[in-house]
Amino acid sequence: MEKAAKAANRNPAAITLIAVTKTHDEDAVRAAIAAGQTTFGENRVQEAKSKYPQLKAAHAEIDLHLIGPLQSNKAREAVALFDAIHTVDRDSIAEALASEIKRAGRSPKLYVQVNTGEEEQKAGVAPQDALAFIAKCRDAYALTISGLMCIPPADEEPSPHFALLVKLARDAGLKELSMGMSGDYETAIRLGATHIRVGTAIFGARPQA
Ligand SMILES: *Cc1c(COP(=O)(O)O)cnc(C)c1O
Repeated sequence: MEKAAKAANRNPAAITLIAVTKTHDEDAVRAAIAAGQTTFGENRVQEAKSKYPQLKAAHAEIDLHLIGPLQSNKAREAVALFDAIHTVDRDSIAEALASEIKRAGRSPKLYVQVNTGEEEQKAGVAPQDALAFIAKCRDAYALTISGLMCIPPADEEPSPHFALLVKLARDAGLKELSMGMSGDYETAIRLGATHIRVGTAIFGARPQA
């Protein structure tokens, strides 16, 4: 990360590493904490609930990010457990989060996920709908959106997708960019990522589902 940041003339301290712990157990998280890591990512609410309440009770410094799709009926659990949610991508989720944030008095940071590759099976708002959706989050639901998130198609060069996310964030006046994983975080840093989400390069390969 530091090398990639320096090569891009960026301050490494301006980039947050989210250590993605999905499929890994609490011991793996504890080892990362012992090494100084504080920001973690999980892609499922249920799995995060099975390991993080205990960890957070013991380590108040943990900053936990939801990086996988959210169902409206999990909004309550998500707002209670996560410090950031990267996958706001439709009205029903924005509405559920808004009402839960109000009820719980707890406000995780929010990112809008953009489906930059316009893939059928992938979550995220379509690029051409992103600006209107961000405005609606703010105006209709009174949500504060901190930035944008994307997952480029697995079989494509990631840079055009990162560049599109950068452009949309600039047009929307948003400063944070959640982009880059084990295979492409250097490219993401070069293009302006403020948050990279890295699992495999830290914890090793995950068991195949
Ligand atoms: C699993 C996951 C990652 C981490 O992927 P690696 O290739 O293991 O670094 C990043 N982002 C999301 C949304 C994920 O689900």
